[in-house]
Amino acid sequence: MTDHLLSGPEPDPAGDAGHVGAPERVGFFTDTSVCIGCKACEVACKEWNALPEDGLSLSGMSYDNTQELGASTWRHVAFIEQDGPALPVPAPEGRTELPLAGGDGATGRDTTGQASGEQGGMRWLMSSDVCKHCTHAACLDVCPTGSLFRTEFGTVVVQEDICNGCGYCVPACPYGVIEQRPSDGRAFKCTLCYDRLGAGQEPACAKACPTESIQFGPLDELRERAALRVDQLHEAGIADARLYGHDPEDGVGGDGAFFLLLDEPEVYGLPPDPVVTTRDLPAMWKHAGAAALSLAGGLLASFALPALARNARGRGSR
Ligand code: SF4
Ligand code: SF4
Ligand code: SF4
Repeated sequence: MTDHLLSGPEPDPAGDAGHVGAPERVGFFTDTSVCIGCKACEVACKEWNALPEDGLSLSGMSYDNTQELGASTWRHVAFIEQDGPALPVPAPEGRTELPLAGGDGATGRDTTGQASGEQGGMRWLMSSDVCKHCTHAACLDVCPTGSLFRTEFGTVVVQEDICNGCGYCVPACPYGVIEQRPSDGRAFKCTLCYDRLGAGQEPACAKACPTESIQFGPLDELRERAALRVDQLHEAGIADARLYGHDPEDGVGGDGAFFLLLDEPEVYGLPPDPVVTTRDLPAMWKHAGAAALSLAGGLLASFALPALARNARGRGSR
């Protein structure tokens, strides 16, 4: 049965979109605590999808040279420099610790490569951002051509040959992910490598990531793995570790691409409490309908009823 829900928990987005016998929903768990900022993911995405160069514009504030997601940047590795020492981050369970340049991880570079402690008194937060493949994707809800669609894997894809360049999807995205290419106005974003998934391969960015910061797989499995990793970091004293976008009860029904962060989402340029922008459409239509009915009633009372009364008086005087 298809419900076409606009908000709230949605256990089967692919089924809701009409896919019968769809495979398990897949997605990304990006563990930013092990990202070393190598940008292999950005490069792999560019290469696999033949994305054009979009200008190397160093901000002068950071090593970040792509700065944000856009029509030609479907993966963006954010670099955030912060004052204060970094805590040594343990490697995920079952993984080998990387050699520590500074010896104990608290005085040099920790296992994630984040500069820390006595060497400059700062730490780097690095995070590879991407389209969230929302459970309730407003970009898709507002697309008038069907260019944006939900795949059988539960992901959200935009088809460049159907996009008419109307740009409705751009303000609809609560994360500011999708963008129109200035040269022709068509919208582009990560497809979660739909072509590779169809061939049984993992997405190019996850394949290229040397530290497994980007993990691809069935979403339920990733959520379990992520919960264990947060527990591990809390036990290691990293109290600020938290998951972002993993909760099916949140404003977008949970993201297909969710993250483990080491600070507030705003620090990474992520909205703290995103809500699918089409959530309130049914209520808005209800209010608009009620307003239209009141207007029609007002017009009836102002013009039609007096005219009827005049007609009745005219007939009475004959
Ligand atoms: S993050 Fe934005 S572009 Fe990606 S699926 Fe969600 S609404 Fe669409
Ligand atoms: S899943 Fe594919 S399209 Fe999306 S960011 Fe990774 S490489 Fe690029
Ligand atoms: S997510 Fe992986 S590939 Fe991308 S910058 Fe971080 S470590 Fe490198």
